[in-house]
Amino acid sequence: MQRGTFQLMKSLNRNIILNKIRLEGPISRAQIAKDTKLTPPTVSTIVKELIDSGMIKESEQGESKGGRKPTMLIINADSFYVIGLDVGPKDIKTILTDLNGKVLKFQERVLFSPMTNHKLLDIMKAEIQQIMDPYSEEEDKIIGIGVGMHGVVDVEQGLSLYAPNLNLRNIPIKEELETRFNRTVKVENDAKALALGEVWFGNGNGAESVVAVNIGNGIGAGIVVDGKLFHGENFIAGEIGHMTIDMGGKQCTCGNYGCLQTLAAGPAIAEKAQKEVAIGRDSVLREMADHDLEKIDGKMVYEGALQGDDLCVQVLKSTGIYLGIGLTNLIHLMNPKLIIIGGGVSNAGDFLMDSLKETVQKKALTEAAKHTDIRVSKLGNKATAIGAVSLLLVELFQ
Ligand SMILES: [Zn+2]
Repeated sequence: MQRGTFQLMKSLNRNIILNKIRLEGPISRAQIAKDTKLTPPTVSTIVKELIDSGMIKESEQGESKGGRKPTMLIINADSFYVIGLDVGPKDIKTILTDLNGKVLKFQERVLFSPMTNHKLLDIMKAEIQQIMDPYSEEEDKIIGIGVGMHGVVDVEQGLSLYAPNLNLRNIPIKEELETRFNRTVKVENDAKALALGEVWFGNGNGAESVVAVNIGNGIGAGIVVDGKLFHGENFIAGEIGHMTIDMGGKQCTCGNYGCLQTLAAGPAIAEKAQKEVAIGRDSVLREMADHDLEKIDGKMVYEGALQGDDLCVQVLKSTGIYLGIGLTNLIHLMNPKLIIIGGGVSNAGDFLMDSLKETVQKKALTEAAKHTDIRVSKLGNKATAIGAVSLLLVELFQ
């Protein structure tokens, strides 16, 4: 057996046991062995390692089915904290969580353009410091910082290669944050972080092939194959927001024309609605925006749709059709078991999901592909930040 394979099996077993405890704890060693089909000695050895590392602990005695009562195991969730950042084009969300991904503190800060590398790094440092401040007494428990950064990220160097919506290049995030905070820092593309977070904490739990699509101010996908993130040769795998849908379409921030995100991301929703209102279309948006059409944003369109406004419903529906076309392309390329939709636009829920799913059903090649499981993230607006936290947990647990 190759060493690599052995190491992989070992870490997979550890991960399986840890996840079992995390998801089903309190649970006994015997039950873990039974459910995972690992041998009792393997389970005991790994459980001991995990107790020694402080990640799990023994809790109360369980029910006995005759004989000695088994000792139950649970995650020692508050033994460590992790910080997660979601760095989008327009704002930064920062969270501090325990090992169960439970959010103990959340803060959000709006970014103003023009942005520079230096300015963005300073803001990130200030946000991290601010979230750490109340925990100064137990600072040692904060094991690391995960960053979900929009755009293309070199994960080995922790370098943002290109953030198209801010038009920044080569931001040394890992280097700067590790120097400043003296902790492990992991940087990943935001959609990839989201995908990992979903596999770790959300809808994707247990699924081997998952694609998570982050739809906010831009669109990106994180691809998990056989439980691992797929990066591609130069880290651009999953950049589906820049898939050309309409060659004669509008110019994208990347310079190309008719990219998926020019048709279906948050700003596209707002623009479509603004245009229709501007040419005199009847809509509650006019009132909601105090007659200042610039104020109309994606969120307002969703609120309008909730009130039954025709225009708002129609805009979300057509957005869903474009997304459906993009996802059909993705299904034909990757054929995932599950697609999870996250990001701000996913808040539009059924208004968008119904037409999205209908489009996939119309266009996908086979019956099975037509019925690919497509769901909205249950981690809400913190999904990417929680994904950033999971970058550290993966490192810790595997
Ligand atoms: Zn583009």
